[in-house]
Amino acid sequence: MQMVFVLEVRVDAWLEAGGRVKVPRPASCPECGHGWVIFDGFYPRHTRRGRVWIQRVWCASDICEQRSHSLLPDVLVSGRVDLASVIGWALQAWAAGVGHRPIAAQLGVPAATVRGWLRRAAARGGRVAARLVEVARAADPVGRDPPAGGGIVTLVGAALSAAQAWSALSGEPVEPWRFAVAHTAGRLLG
Ligand SMILES: [Zn+2]
Repeated sequence: MQMVFVLEVRVDAWLEAGGRVKVPRPASCPECGHGWVIFDGFYPRHTRRGRVWIQRVWCASDICEQRSHSLLPDVLVSGRVDLASVIGWALQAWAAGVGHRPIAAQLGVPAATVRGWLRRAAARGGRVAARLVEVARAADPVGRDPPAGGGIVTLVGAALSAAQAWSALSGEPVEPWRFAVAHTAGRLLG
């Protein structure tokens, strides 16, 4: 199982350190809720901007014994080599009417990669959006639902409104795609 932590250092600094930055120890296990987890080494993870090391934590409960969980920064999307901000930017551009080829050219990634994100978001975005709508509701019970109109448009709408609702509540800026990663355990694309 994986859990997500909010990266406190700049993304460039995190990449430069190969992911070996101070990671907050989780208060409890994401799988069983046990309150005692310990750090348990690192494993390598490939990103388009270089290799990073991902912290594992080990849970001492009877349920989780011998199993460790991954602790992912909120900039990584499950199963993808590109960062959340990049993938989110592509989804927003597509929702605004830009085609996948110009998006790929702008981001400097293969067109097939962008098409992969878009297909996945079209298929699963509705479900991810439903989770983000719940998160938005917790901050703003009278907020509007994201637009219907397909997985990608709905996902983009839900991510933006969840970030806006929490930003309004906290008085702090909230980056929509990192926030979405944090609230979907890294499964931004389902
Ligand atoms: Zn556990």
